[in-house]
Amino acid sequence: MALLSKLTWFDARKQFNSKNLALLPIGSTEQHGPHLPLGTDWLTAEWIAKKTEEKTDILLLPTISIGVSEHHRHFWGTLWVSPSTLKNYIIDVGKALKSHGISRLIIVNGHGGNNPALDEACRELRLYDIFAFTYSWWLAIPDVLQKTIVTTGSHAGESETSVMLNICPEGVVAERFEEGFKKGAPEWGLKIQGVTVGYDTIDFTQSGVAGNPTAASREKGEIILNASVERLVEFISWLKSVSDESLKIKEHLP
Ligand SMILES: [Zn+2]
Repeated sequence: MALLSKLTWFDARKQFNSKNLALLPIGSTEQHGPHLPLGTDWLTAEWIAKKTEEKTDILLLPTISIGVSEHHRHFWGTLWVSPSTLKNYIIDVGKALKSHGISRLIIVNGHGGNNPALDEACRELRLYDIFAFTYSWWLAIPDVLQKTIVTTGSHAGESETSVMLNICPEGVVAERFEEGFKKGAPEWGLKIQGVTVGYDTIDFTQSGVAGNPTAASREKGEIILNASVERLVEFISWLKSVSDESLKIKEHLP
């Protein structure tokens, strides 16, 4: 077990000396409809990262539980940081890791709103020969989602509700699935002629849901979660097979 939060610095020294890869789970604290907990995204990222740690030789870092969620601010309890704060935070964490000798980092992400800032942070970290990658679980398993999930929508709908029925069943309020669906939207966002006109979540969904939680099941969640862990394990074995040299910024072509 290599969970940094539970190690003394004496034991952490051994881990940093023997490993060159860390996992950093990140999510959000934001509304997930009337039926899912605010921590849905970070709980999911942390669960996937923990299961992956059990199967691989990596160091698991403490979870970042507040992300870029300002667009959900009209719903009680949503917390957020700005994209630039998150970007700089990740860059600082990467540099701190490097100071202890770890130069490879996989950010296990559970929240789509974090992606632009994480992408920028990963790109900037490479300037310091720190190789960071964002693993957004739902983007890694499009084939599995297509086979398993029958309804549309990406927020607090069929897929996220199925996942939470597995990892936090006590936080799921099944009696509100119907209400969340009826007062929600079938898809994320609001566009007119291809132009985004819905700035905030409240502009297109009254319940905060974009999707259909009534189609969720524990079985579907298990399939999704297992696939997410499997793909991450596969990515880690690829990453271990390539050299730092091949990950560095390429020289300009002549
Ligand atoms: Zn979510």
